[in-house]
Amino acid sequence: MTLKGKTAVITGSTSGIGLAYARTLAAAGANIVINGLGDAETIETERAALEARHDIKALYIEADMTRPDEIAAMIAEAEARFDGVDILINNAGVQFVAPIEEFPQERWDQIIAIDLSSAFHAIRAVVPGMKKRKWGRIISTASAHSMTASPFKSAYVAAKHGLAGLTKTVALELATSGITANCISPGYVWTPLVEKQIPDTMKARDMTREEVMHDVLLAAQPTKAFVQPDEVAAMALFLCSDAASQITGANIAIDGGWTAE
Ligand code: NAD
Repeated sequence: MTLKGKTAVITGSTSGIGLAYARTLAAAGANIVINGLGDAETIETERAALEARHDIKALYIEADMTRPDEIAAMIAEAEARFDGVDILINNAGVQFVAPIEEFPQERWDQIIAIDLSSAFHAIRAVVPGMKKRKWGRIISTASAHSMTASPFKSAYVAAKHGLAGLTKTVALELATSGITANCISPGYVWTPLVEKQIPDTMKARDMTREEVMHDVLLAAQPTKAFVQPDEVAAMALFLCSDAASQITGANIAIDGGWTAE
């Protein structure tokens, strides 16, 4: 499959699953807009490597996903630079783990902003151009937590359920426009986001690191294996293909059987 001539904006693509999306779509020939936090030198190395390995253009735009104005400006800059945005992947996400009565209000606001509202702002900005070109792919990284819940993750579970609902609504609105909107919902993928929540979960559940990994994280995953970022990216690539033109409004689980239980 080739995405030659197409442009993909991938939020939160300086790390983990987002970086895997960037590498996979670049390998298929798409121009890439990288976004996310991180140190400037590492990001530039990754951006330059995408261009060097594949015959594509890659641009880094430092938009903060808590800022609607910066999200709109990112889409406008990408459209101006590449003559349109064909693929939007809403992927930026953060997590915080605490009992509901101790959950800091500012963490709730931050997670809703980054994991949910940023997708609304980006979709809103990208749709007019996609409608004009009569083609578009909107993909959001939701989570198994868009279908089911776990204790101590109130904001994340609420945001991801919201993202699934937003995606279904957008899919229906755009159903006859040549634009699809879908969620990919991974179980536990071995990325910095998962690694970083281990200490808080240890505290909340009074467990060791090994207990958290085996009895909490992989306990939910019947295959007893972490999903790999490349496996999530392969699904996004398929959703970008013409073969996936009738897949819209879907929430596709890649969770080792977690949500089958
Ligand atoms: P990660 O921490 O490796 O990457 C998160 C990305 O979001 C980074 O690029 C980071 O810089 C970016 N980001 C964070 N705050 C931002 C902000 N304010 N503005 C712009 N960018 C920001 O995590 P990951 O595991 O690769 O997660 C990516 C997505 O996948 C998230 O939406 C996450 O909820 C989802 N997800 C992850 C897993 C998992 O097990 N890792 C499972 C299901 C869903």
